[in-house]
Amino acid sequence: MAKKRLVSGMRTTGSLHLGHLEGTLKNWVALQDTYDCYFFAAVWHAFTDRLKIDNLPEIIREMIVDWLSVGIDPEKAVIFRQSAMHEHAELSTILANCTPLGWLERCPTFKDAVRDDEARSGVSLGKLMYPVLMTADIAVYNAEAVPVGKDQLPHLELSREIIRRFNGTFGEILTEPEAVLSQVPLLIGIDKRKMSKSYNNGIDLRETPDGLKSKIQQMITDPQRVRRNDPGDPEVCTVYAYHKIYTPDRLEEIAQGCRTASLGCRDCKLMLFERLNAMLDPIRSRRAEIEARKGYIEEVLDAGEKRAHLVATEVMQNIRKVMGFLL
Ligand code: ATP
Ligand code: MG
Repeated sequence: MAKKRLVSGMRTTGSLHLGHLEGTLKNWVALQDTYDCYFFAAVWHAFTDRLKIDNLPEIIREMIVDWLSVGIDPEKAVIFRQSAMHEHAELSTILANCTPLGWLERCPTFKDAVRDDEARSGVSLGKLMYPVLMTADIAVYNAEAVPVGKDQLPHLELSREIIRRFNGTFGEILTEPEAVLSQVPLLIGIDKRKMSKSYNNGIDLRETPDGLKSKIQQMITDPQRVRRNDPGDPEVCTVYAYHKIYTPDRLEEIAQGCRTASLGCRDCKLMLFERLNAMLDPIRSRRAEIEARKGYIEEVLDAGEKRAHLVATEVMQNIRKVMGFLL
């Protein structure tokens, strides 16, 4: 049986952190065996917050290198840049005309961005259009599946509505994608808020062992545990939240050690460092191998973009035909 086509992208806004690994990339690696995967660097989406992104070529290159070093396989998945695919832009321009303004204004991410008048003046049309471009990204490959977390379901529903509107006018031209719901854990940052570039609380995938150690040292533990002998409450501790993910085999022992003060925060952090470092080590070696191959990333993108074009060209040609662009 033919695999279903799945499309997913990641914005090129900066270096990747463990949140991206846990929340997105591990899922992508698992999906590439069951689906015909199209993974893209969402370069245009990155501009919706700011028009100028310093070092964009490096950001794109490092992102692709990181995808490959965590196990995204260019033999299985089609890897490409949104910005190399003018078809996304063409379809987005078209789909903008079957998207009611109200749908976009009611979108939770847009509503968050325009909280007050002052905020409103700093929000671009690009931000408002985000769901339209996202719909084009998906529809231009006739994707049948899109991986989403629960919080992103409204976005995909919006895409499905836009596609239904288009099809309502022109017939069953575009495919309505299904959500592939994934149980993505939300990883907290070293300050206990959601790990996010904007909060500057992340642990980067490219962290050196020393950098990693310093990030873990900065993690907030139980504030009641002032002295080494004070018993602590693991449930309020950031380090323990990480142990839940990375040290499941010794969790009881750690919780007990914290509550009885037989385990100090320093040793508890050291244990976490060892776990995380052991996880990052093979990623670091694969990254070094990939980076040693001159021209390899260009080759991967070139091949991926050729494959993506084969599909997008055909889909766009159908659209141009039914809409009457072709003489
Ligand atoms: P920004 O601060 O610019 O929003 P970010 O660090 O939050 O950046 P995004 O580009 O918003 O990163 O995230 C891309 C995708 O990575 C998200 O849709 C989500 O699936 C995943 N992701 C990001 N941060 C986390 C996190 N802390 N935990 C789990 N998944 C995450
Ligand atoms: Mg974010």
